[in-house]
Amino acid sequence: MDAYLSESHRALRSRIREFAEGEIAPVARELDETSRFPWENVRKMADLGLFGVSVPKEYGGLGLDYFSYILVIEELARVDASHAITVSAHSTLGSSPILNFGDEAQKRRYLPLLATGRVLAGFGLTEPGAGSDSAGTRTVATRVNGGYRITGNKIFITHAGVGEVFVVTAVTDRSAGARGITSFIVTKETTDREAAERVGVGHAPELEPFTPGVRAGKKEDKMGWRASDTRELILEDAEVPAENRLGAEGEGFINFMKTLDSGRIGIGALALGIAQGALDCILAAAPDARLRDSQGAQFTLADLATEVTAARHLVYHAAWLRERGEPYGHAAAMAKLYASELSVRAAATAIQLLGERGLLDEYPVERMLRDAKICEIGEGTSEIQRLVIARHLLREAGVGS
Ligand SMILES: Cc1cc2nc3c(=O)[nH]c(=O)nc-3n(C[C@H](O)[C@H](O)[C@H](O)COP(=O)(O)OP(=O)(O)OC[C@H]3O[C@@H](n4cnc5c(N)ncnc54)[C@H](O)[C@@H]3O)c2cc1C
Repeated sequence: MDAYLSESHRALRSRIREFAEGEIAPVARELDETSRFPWENVRKMADLGLFGVSVPKEYGGLGLDYFSYILVIEELARVDASHAITVSAHSTLGSSPILNFGDEAQKRRYLPLLATGRVLAGFGLTEPGAGSDSAGTRTVATRVNGGYRITGNKIFITHAGVGEVFVVTAVTDRSAGARGITSFIVTKETTDREAAERVGVGHAPELEPFTPGVRAGKKEDKMGWRASDTRELILEDAEVPAENRLGAEGEGFINFMKTLDSGRIGIGALALGIAQGALDCILAAAPDARLRDSQGAQFTLADLATEVTAARHLVYHAAWLRERGEPYGHAAAMAKLYASELSVRAAATAIQLLGERGLLDEYPVERMLRDAKICEIGEGTSEIQRLVIARHLLREAGVGS
C-alpha cells in the first residue's frame, strides 16, 4: 500500500494522526453528544493549513497533491468523521469549484480566505426535489440589472450556518434541461459570529456586503456527523452580481458532476478512516475481549482487516488516477461505494466483537456506526454509485449512452 506514498506523504500522515489523537479524540464524544461545531479545532486545523491542502500556494494553500488531501481526510476520520467532513465539504465541495472553474478575479478574491481557513465554504446543490436527481433543480436565477436574482431552497447543506462562501446551482434556462443549470458564488454572514470572533476564524469582514437575500435555515439534528453543521440554505430574491457567476451559463451541471466525482474519493477516504478506526478499536480492546481465545472472532477480525485493505486500495487507486489526469469517475464511485458500505459493516462488527462495551462510550464504535451510515447517502447514495459504475461498464462495452 505504501507504494502509493512518498516520504512526505508518510510524514504528513504521522503529523495528522498525532493531531487527531491529541486534539480531536479527547473532545469528539462531547461534540457528538451536544452536536456542537468544533470551532476551537477548526482554528487549529486552519493553523495546520488543512483547509487548503491541495490549493496552490499562490492562493494561500499548502500546494500539496490530491493524495495528501486524501490522507488528511482518512486520518481525521479515523478519530472523528465530523472533523473530516468539515475539512472535506469545505475543500472539495466549497472551494474546489472556485479553484477549478473560477476566473482569476474570483480565485484571488475567495481562495486566500478559504485556503487559509479564515472562512468556511459550502456547496448548495440538493433541494427538496433534487437529491439523487440533481438535474431536477428548481432554484431559479433570472437576469436583472446586469446581474441575477436567485430564488430557491437548498437543503442539507454542510456549513450553511457556520460558513460564509457558497457555490450554489440555479436554473438559468428551463428549456435546456440539465444544460440550463448555472453555478454562482454567494456569501452570507456566519450564524456563529461570536464563536468565530473568539477563535479568530470563520468570519471575514472583507466579504461585506454579503449577498442580500441569502440566509441559513434551522440546524438539522442528525443521526451522525453531529458536530458538522448541516442546514437549509435559503435564497430569497438573492441579488447576485454577474461577476459572481461561476463559469458560463449552462455549465453548472457538468461542473458539479466533476466536483462530485472528486468529492466521492474524499468520502471514500472518510469512510475508510472510520473503518480503520473501528478496526483499531477492536485491536485496542483485544486484551480484554474474547478475541484472543475465540477462533470465530479471529476469523471476523481477519476478514475485516482484509476488507479495510481492499478499500484502501480502491480509494488510493482512484486518487492515483485523478493525480495522473486519467478518467477516474467510475473508480471514485467504486471507492465510495465499497468504503462506505464497509465502514457500516466495520463499526457494527466492532460493536459485536466488543459486546456490551461496544454499546457504551468506552470505545467510540457506536458513534462510528452512526457516522458511517451517512457515508452511504452523502455526495451520492450507494444506489447512485452502482448506477455510475454500471453505466460506465455498459459504455465501455459499447451498449450504453
Ligand atoms: C449529512 C449530510 C450532508 C450533506 N451535505 C450536502 C451539501 O453540503 N451540499 C449538498 O448539495 N447536498 C448535501 N447533502 C445531500 C446529499 O447529497 C443527498 O442527501 C444525496 O444526494 C441523496 O439525495 P436525497 O437525500 O434527496 O435522496 P433521494 O434522491 O430522494 O433518494 C432516496 C432513495 O432513493 C434512491 N434512489 C434515488 N434515485 C434512484 C435511482 N435512480 N435508482 C435507484 N435508487 C434511487 C436513493 O439511493 C435513496 O436510497 C448532504 C446530506 C447529508 C445526509
